[in-house]
Amino acid sequence: MQHSILPDNHGPRGQAMADAVQSCVHCGFCLAACPTYSVLGEEMDSPRGRIYLMKTVLEGDLPAEDAQPYIDRCLGCMGCEPACPSGVPYGELLTSYRALQNETQSRPLIDSVTRRMIVETLPYPARFRAAARLGKLGKLVQGALPEQLGAMLGLLPDTLPAPIALPNVIPAKGERRARVALLTGCVQTVLAPDINKATVDVLSANGVEVVIPQGQGCCGSILSHIGEADRAMHLARHNLSAFPTDVDAIITNAAGCGSGMHEYGLLFKGQPEAQQATDFAHRVQDVSVFLADLGLREITTPQPERRVAYHDACHLAYAQGVIDPPRDLLEHIPNLTLLELDNGLCCGSAGTYNLEQPEIAAELGQLKAQSIIDTQADMVVMGNIGCFTQIETHLAQLGQALPVKHTVQVLAEAYREE
Ligand code: SF4
Ligand code: SF4
Repeated sequence: MQHSILPDNHGPRGQAMADAVQSCVHCGFCLAACPTYSVLGEEMDSPRGRIYLMKTVLEGDLPAEDAQPYIDRCLGCMGCEPACPSGVPYGELLTSYRALQNETQSRPLIDSVTRRMIVETLPYPARFRAAARLGKLGKLVQGALPEQLGAMLGLLPDTLPAPIALPNVIPAKGERRARVALLTGCVQTVLAPDINKATVDVLSANGVEVVIPQGQGCCGSILSHIGEADRAMHLARHNLSAFPTDVDAIITNAAGCGSGMHEYGLLFKGQPEAQQATDFAHRVQDVSVFLADLGLREITTPQPERRVAYHDACHLAYAQGVIDPPRDLLEHIPNLTLLELDNGLCCGSAGTYNLEQPEIAAELGQLKAQSIIDTQADMVVMGNIGCFTQIETHLAQLGQALPVKHTVQVLAEAYREE
């Protein structure tokens, strides 16, 4: 797309934005892959429409406030990237544009309050745990609260699982085949600590020594994806220095974290740590990719018959292109039948989207839950904690409370039964 954007006027990520706009040929192949276009049917709620809006704002021909509702409604799911024959790096454009606008744009009061609650609590497990407990009281008056705050409370579980303490080093079982460092994450450690436990169990069972670096924290992805780049960098800097370099990989088991850490080069563009951040990003691997490359050890004991629906988390399948590895791992389990969904669109979770855009998120959540039910699966499996909460909620609302598990949890159970 021809443009008159002056990259130097738009900060360190200005060139990335101009290049992304330039590469779009306005063909529209991305429209069918876009969840908001499929739900709302508006050109400006499609990838092509949003690229045009961002271009026009960056050229100075449209006030940013006029484009903001359409950009805010973008899930950042990256469903449009693999659908684009021109290879437009939509994610780089969106993340950079949101960071730029976040410095200047104002929001309605309730949106600002919701945003503050997100940035001050979600990345910090202790604060999030305390907020979740307070939220139980808030549920008593949920119906009387503004929509977004009510949606936040609606996604909180009635009870939080007990924390699971993991040692600093988990030795490999049998011959050591690799050594990795694990990002334990933030929200996930509160809502589903068993995922980290399952991750180290499966890695260890497959001959991998796991280091859990002390001093690590939130990777910042949850903030960088909503345009809070400075806060995201502040968090990421801790991890740049907390993680060792003498490991074979930095492992994450949350798709949102993996996709955000792979974008560290863009996040730190123009910063003194840019090279260090890029090197760090190259060492990050989703646990499913690492295990599939390594090759799983055989599961020899009898396994129950089960029908498993696999849900592609957008930040794993589309943002990172990880489609086959989790399926290959699940198919390694005897007597497991893998089922595909007929709906590949985002489930509506998308980081904090279901908190900031609850109506669209709920519609997408219902569509996804129905497609899972249609497979007649015994359980649904995925690789992202954000999708867990969203899908559990909507399955329950449709009266089908199927077990929702992470790929590594299913694998850990299979190895434990040995
Ligand atoms: S498919 Fe790619 S090139 Fe075509 S309109 Fe969408 S983003 Fe632009
Ligand atoms: S990131 Fe998702 S919601 Fe946003 S334009 Fe692309 S496909 Fe649509």
